[in-house]
Amino acid sequence: MNGAELPYDVSDEYRPEPEPVPAPPAWQDGSFRIGIHTSIAGDIAGSLDIAAKLGANALQIFSASPRMWPRGGTRIADADAARFRERRAALGLGPLVIHDNYLINLASPDRVMRTRSIQAFHDELVRAVSLGADFLVAHPGAGMGAEKSQAIADIADGMRQAARGVKFGSLRILVENTSGMGSALGSRFEEIAAILEQTAELPMGVCLDTAHTFEAGFDITTEKGLEQTVEGVDRLVGLHRVYVLHVNDSKTPLGSRVDRHENIGHGHIGRKAFGRILNHPQLGPGPQGLAGRAFILETPIDKPGDDRRNVRALGDLVGVSVKQAPKAEDGFSMARAEKKSSTQRTQRAQRKKEIPRKTKPKARTKRK
Ligand SMILES: [Zn+2]
Ligand SMILES: [Zn+2]
Repeated sequence: MNGAELPYDVSDEYRPEPEPVPAPPAWQDGSFRIGIHTSIAGDIAGSLDIAAKLGANALQIFSASPRMWPRGGTRIADADAARFRERRAALGLGPLVIHDNYLINLASPDRVMRTRSIQAFHDELVRAVSLGADFLVAHPGAGMGAEKSQAIADIADGMRQAARGVKFGSLRILVENTSGMGSALGSRFEEIAAILEQTAELPMGVCLDTAHTFEAGFDITTEKGLEQTVEGVDRLVGLHRVYVLHVNDSKTPLGSRVDRHENIGHGHIGRKAFGRILNHPQLGPGPQGLAGRAFILETPIDKPGDDRRNVRALGDLVGVSVKQAPKAEDGFSMARAEKKSSTQRTQRAQRKKEIPRKTKPKARTKRK
């Protein structure tokens, strides 16, 4: 839709003025959106600068600590949220994706766990709206032995409850496919389709993780396997609903059902397959794909600079010219920044004899 001008017609004269059609955000201009999960440690707005310094034009973050139940207030102060939104606009980053807390399990048969999960997911939605996020990526949940259809109904019902009173604006919830570890749902696209069907009144979509897809048994490393997978996703959930791809190589083989991310080109999926995935006409942001669809890295940082190299690898694979791509800062890496501060923390702690030398905190770089 664009504001193409209609020829003037006198019969139009007294009609009420139509609602103005909001202009689509700049990140939906059909360009490749390449992002990476960045750290919010210290200052949440700092995650935006990290993404820009790594040469990304999109990003994913947690909006709170991902492995703890929040204590006390979980809202982001208005001033901090405003500063975050301003900085994001200044850097031209988009879309902004938030990944939900790992502890949330809307499929849990345990009553306390379920109530806690619904509340935490509600808080995720509130924080996402306040930060002006475009997407909130959520893992479906694990049935812990419950009947699959019951678990799916519980997830959908939990999402509906969590969404009560939330003014979504342009925010959309994306259900992420999984590798199918343990009793985790979402390794079959039929299950994701069922969740979407039962949450039809909510703004929903899908996040497709390449590592999870492969680990769940879809061989996206061959031309034929990729075609079949793309066709299956389109038939079951609709490719137009896949707004984000998590682009991760896999440390584990096809069908392992074990979720371990690897740097692009260093795992069982391999660089050649990523070239096909990123340049698949239906998966890209082009006319046969979806404008604004983002490719987000959740790769480990084993060596400082892995993050920057992964962003550059995606840029190279899609052939984004150096001129178009945002400029990465030479030598910048999240690992380097984090390492320094964790060393300082360790030294401080050692001086106080609080923790022994061996327990140097590990950089949190692994994401599911
Ligand atoms: Zn993922
Ligand atoms: Zn995830």
